[in-house]
Amino acid sequence: MPVSVSVPFVDLRAQYAQIREEIDDQVREVLDGAAFVHGPQVESFEEAFAAFVGVRHAIGVANGTDALLLALKALGVGPGDEVITAANTFIATAEAIIHAGARPVFVDIDPRTYTLEVAHVERVITPSTKAVIPVHLYGQPADLAPILAVTGPRGIAVIEDAAQAHGAVYRKRRVGSWGQAACFSFYPGKNLGAYGDAGAIVTDDEGIAVAVQRLRDHGSVEKYRHDRLGYNSRLDTLQAAVLRVKLPYLEEWNRRRQERAGWYDALFRGVPDIITPAVADWGSHVYHLYVIRLEQGSRDGLRVYLARNGIQTGIHYPTPLPDVDVLAPYVQNRGEFPVATACARTILSLPMYPELARAQVEYVVEQVAAYLAARE
Ligand SMILES: *Cc1c(COP(=O)(O)O)cnc(C)c1O
Repeated sequence: MPVSVSVPFVDLRAQYAQIREEIDDQVREVLDGAAFVHGPQVESFEEAFAAFVGVRHAIGVANGTDALLLALKALGVGPGDEVITAANTFIATAEAIIHAGARPVFVDIDPRTYTLEVAHVERVITPSTKAVIPVHLYGQPADLAPILAVTGPRGIAVIEDAAQAHGAVYRKRRVGSWGQAACFSFYPGKNLGAYGDAGAIVTDDEGIAVAVQRLRDHGSVEKYRHDRLGYNSRLDTLQAAVLRVKLPYLEEWNRRRQERAGWYDALFRGVPDIITPAVADWGSHVYHLYVIRLEQGSRDGLRVYLARNGIQTGIHYPTPLPDVDVLAPYVQNRGEFPVATACARTILSLPMYPELARAQVEYVVEQVAAYLAARE
């Protein structure tokens, strides 16, 4: 295939093209109504999203990072508390813990699923542990049942970070319906993405729902009556309208991601030294990212080679969080994350989105194989 064939990492324009009329209609309705904050589309999306996840409440907020922060605040997490999370995740998970005033306690990941290693969780629990944030990384649910078995009896909350796993199923129920609360991001590139920043907290707990509704709006009980200090972290009406249009397509888009992952898996079977993503038997994988691992050879060399051949890739993430400089002052247990450290050096995220063409997937695998064959 010629070098001019370009495979972008994601293609948000291709998706908009499919739903342009519906989106434009709904956006126009918001513009005509001019209720840009607290418009009726917000509640409409919240109801639809809660039903989709299978919980009683969804509360829209400004972004996924705020969703985590407000969930922690609603649960009363603050100074002196510890919150356990995975060593390999986006920095937002740790930022939210620190901004809540608590300390992140990292645990290593499972090399098969890249999610938090459950066996380590129990080992780092102390009397100060207030919550655990399992991250459903790359679109695969973390193993929630054993985490809940350890935390439940001790009164430790579980907050799912589902920012990469909209619609993924864990043991017959969707992620987001397992913890005391769960947090979603609708950043444009996520499986369900807005046209700007947006996020949500979902929960079955009425108390958490009410607390988050107030926290996102300056701690307001009603206009100009505040029961605590809060934030300005509301979900924009425009973003809610976009999300309401897109939500019914999410399952089909996830199915198409799974189909493309199947193409990659099958084509890579003939390529030595490449480890394709494993799907744990406890649930489904919705492939927010399709992440391979190189058994030998240079991941960075491969990345440069693919870029030269018109293929965009990513690394999620290049540095385990305990080794990120700005987090160092908050980390107690540095240097005990051999799996996360090894993965950070060898993982590579390949192009993945619902509109990716079969020929593009074939071209990516061909180029990976060509690089590996030419190595020696
Ligand atoms: C995207 C993401 C977030 C943060 O969401 P924003 O909407 O970008 O603030 C948090 N956690 C994980 C795992 C993410 O991928």
